[in-house]
Amino acid sequence: MPDLACATCGRVAEYADGRWRCACGGPFESRQDRPFPREALGARAPGLWRYWEAFPLPGPEAAVSLGEGMTPLLPLRWDGVEVVCKLEFLMPTGSFKDRGAAVLLSLARHLGVTRVVEDSSGNAAAAVAAYAAAAGLACDLFVPADASPDKLAQARAYGAAVRAVPGGREAAASAAQEAAATTFYASHVWHPAFFAGTRTFTYEVWEQLGGRAPDVLVLPAGHGTLLLGSWWGFGDLVRWGYLARGPRLIAVQADRCAPLAAAWAGRESPAPGRTVAEGIAIAAPVRLRQMLRAVDETGGAVLAVPEEAIVSAWRRAAAAGLFVEPTAAAALAGLSAALRAGLCRPGERIVVPLTGSGLKAASAVARLLP
Ligand SMILES: [Zn+2]
Repeated sequence: MPDLACATCGRVAEYADGRWRCACGGPFESRQDRPFPREALGARAPGLWRYWEAFPLPGPEAAVSLGEGMTPLLPLRWDGVEVVCKLEFLMPTGSFKDRGAAVLLSLARHLGVTRVVEDSSGNAAAAVAAYAAAAGLACDLFVPADASPDKLAQARAYGAAVRAVPGGREAAASAAQEAAATTFYASHVWHPAFFAGTRTFTYEVWEQLGGRAPDVLVLPAGHGTLLLGSWWGFGDLVRWGYLARGPRLIAVQADRCAPLAAAWAGRESPAPGRTVAEGIAIAAPVRLRQMLRAVDETGGAVLAVPEEAIVSAWRRAAAAGLFVEPTAAAALAGLSAALRAGLCRPGERIVVPLTGSGLKAASAVARLLP
């Protein structure tokens, strides 16, 4: 069976072809179906690589690792309801994006690549830069000229060459894609191997809940790397016979930039504004149609939360000892909204990933202090 198929036209491809999208312009989905052996997990070290069979790699010896994975679950009482947070901000670079970067950069090295390009000004940039460094690969990052210097400092510290592009996110993406004609495009948006990594989020939740799924997962959604990883990951577990069914997926966006929420409601998306939840401020997600399917097929919902609710949730999280970035707090604001709307209920197993560390946005969060 071929590794990949186009989500738009169905044409198939292989990872080894080195293509990052289909000739028709559509994004690829993985067609690999290689279960990790459930019975072997007990003897394996905690971390991402306990699931290596599910990755597009020949074996664990191909791993580029910084010790990622098996982030803790933490019970939290929120609006009077017991929920469970998964502390994704404890990853090596401070965000869940390390899951995708670990697998993607391992694949790049396995394919004999020596240089990668990526466009991101946030957590994906830091993650790709860190894993490129660990893999011994050169990394060129194309970023919007107005990107936050805080986040770029982390990527530059790992040795990435940062190239500022005037004209916003779209222009940075175009510049990266031009470079990708001759260089491996380590895109967290386009490359399906990145999603092979984000799927591990669900494998861990399933193990940590004693071989069960949550009833509901409430997660922030911008490009949908975690939303789609969760949809596909729980789909894997069901297909492999490890689970009867996956959770409802509730995707949370910021009111000021909510194209998925607009599409879900069947409305036109208004022009985006600036939000503190910059990690999910994506005006035109490439995989929008897949994201809608993920929500729809799991019986979930899409919510958009106002700026004040994000700031308030961020303050409450910090007051409980959880120093996360505002994007992560958007999920908690979404949890409050979902509880009010009856989209999830007390007594259900509710899991909320806290996706990124507040340390990454220290000057931005300083402005949120009362
Ligand atoms: Zn296609």
